Amino acid sequence: DDDLALLHGVHGDDEDDDAPAALPVLAIVGRPNVGKSTLVNRVIGRREAVVEDKPGVTRDRVSYPAEWAGRRFMVVDTGGWEVDVAGIDARVAEQAEVAIALADAVVFVVDATVGSTDTDEQVVRLLRRAGKPVVLCANKVDGPAGEADAAALWALGLGEPYPVSALHGRGTGDLLDAVLDALPEVSEHGVVRPQGPRRVALVGRPNVGKSSLLNKVAGTQRVVVDEIAGTTRDPVDELIELKGVPWVFVDTAGIRRRVHQTQGADFYASLRTQAAIEKAEVAVVLLDASQPMTEQDTRVVQQVIDAGRALVIAYNKWDLMDEDRRPYLEREIEKELVQVTWAPRVNISAKTGWHAERLVPALERSLESWDTRISTGRLNAFLGELVAAHPHPVRGGKQPRILFATQASTRPPRFVVFTTGFLDPGYRRYIERRLRETFGFEGTPITISVRVRE
Ligand code: GDP
Ligand code: GDP
Repeated sequence: DDDLALLHGVHGDDEDDDAPAALPVLAIVGRPNVGKSTLVNRVIGRREAVVEDKPGVTRDRVSYPAEWAGRRFMVVDTGGWEVDVAGIDARVAEQAEVAIALADAVVFVVDATVGSTDTDEQVVRLLRRAGKPVVLCANKVDGPAGEADAAALWALGLGEPYPVSALHGRGTGDLLDAVLDALPEVSEHGVVRPQGPRRVALVGRPNVGKSSLLNKVAGTQRVVVDEIAGTTRDPVDELIELKGVPWVFVDTAGIRRRVHQTQGADFYASLRTQAAIEKAEVAVVLLDASQPMTEQDTRVVQQVIDAGRALVIAYNKWDLMDEDRRPYLEREIEKELVQVTWAPRVNISAKTGWHAERLVPALERSLESWDTRISTGRLNAFLGELVAAHPHPVRGGKQPRILFATQASTRPPRFVVFTTGFLDPGYRRYIERRLRETFGFEGTPITISVRVRE
């Protein structure tokens, strides 16, 4: 889970967290065996990127921190995602599509000793459609003799091919310089567009009813066809007007085109979910009310929290909910959703449309919390009272004092507390609980980081 948090540079619990802006994300894509993993290892300067991928083993790790010439960014490693060889072309395209969706810029790796293949050209088409900056890496150019092979890749129409030997390190410096030119300072994903319709992701495990809900919502309401000024919209997103207000439902193409279940599908599903959450401001996590909750359900909820997005929990298939199951459901909520007692819950049926109208008010509530800013004055008055009522316990003869606090950012609300010593985790939770009791924050994660003044 920490790894996913790294994707956008947000660590909720670091002592020294400064609520950093989202780091830009670089995806490294290409066919199997072109040298992606080798290149990732070069770029991140570590060996861990290459993990033995046993078929069926889901890799949760999506991205790795990297640094070049003093700039930090995240690298999405797709090398080794290929778990089977059957239908490899489809797999490469799917993998590239997901990686591109996650990224701010892409390094497309081609094996220069092989030249471009049909699969490579298929990926080139995807890259064109996505419109993200691309740096072309002509890999396996281990010596000057290979330069001609690299030059032949101009034919791909992606601009200058950078001759590289990922294995020996040759040319990687020039490649990374080009990467830095291509990457924005701050991830576009982390940056929420200041105006324009609000962005919603419908997420949840397969068969929970995402496409049914989307169809219900889009079917009864007006799908806005014309562009709204100032909205940059992906073709995979849909603009849907609900009660006169347009909303962008992100990544709906992925929902509508039902992805077949194959080996490793879990992993792709998880990446798609991640990509959708990253693009959205608020996520609706669908849960199946008629079925026991699974680990996959809690993982999706956690992904939303880690991404720092507003959250609504929708219990779907309520029409199938057997009253006998009710006590079990309540127990599950207490057990599995205890960390998100702050999230609004709506019970719906995507099939019949029952309570579907409750979705929008819940979305609005969560987004309002997500946007909330507490003035420094109010915040410190609140903290003063809190400390007076319940001071931090003395630890080893010392008692950390809270000096001052400020809200470093909204979307989600992030607080920085300046202290004379580390705060107990329990005390931090206490602060969070009281913050929520006092200011609401229904539907949004909040983070509190502590900075110790020496
Ligand atoms: P991936 O499937 O795209 O992640 O490819 P890998 O990084 O696993 O590399 C596939 C094979 O190509 C491995 O045997 C690597 O050692 C080899 N390889 C990777 N980069 C280079 C390179 O620059 N030169 C040479 N000669 N071999 C390389
Ligand atoms: P997705 O994989 O999350 O997009 O799920 P789908 O929307 O394709 O739904 C999977 C199955 O559940 C389909 O057979 C739907 O008809 C059914 N389904 C979805 N929502 C409901 C609901 O609220 N009630 C009932 N009874 N079935 C539903």
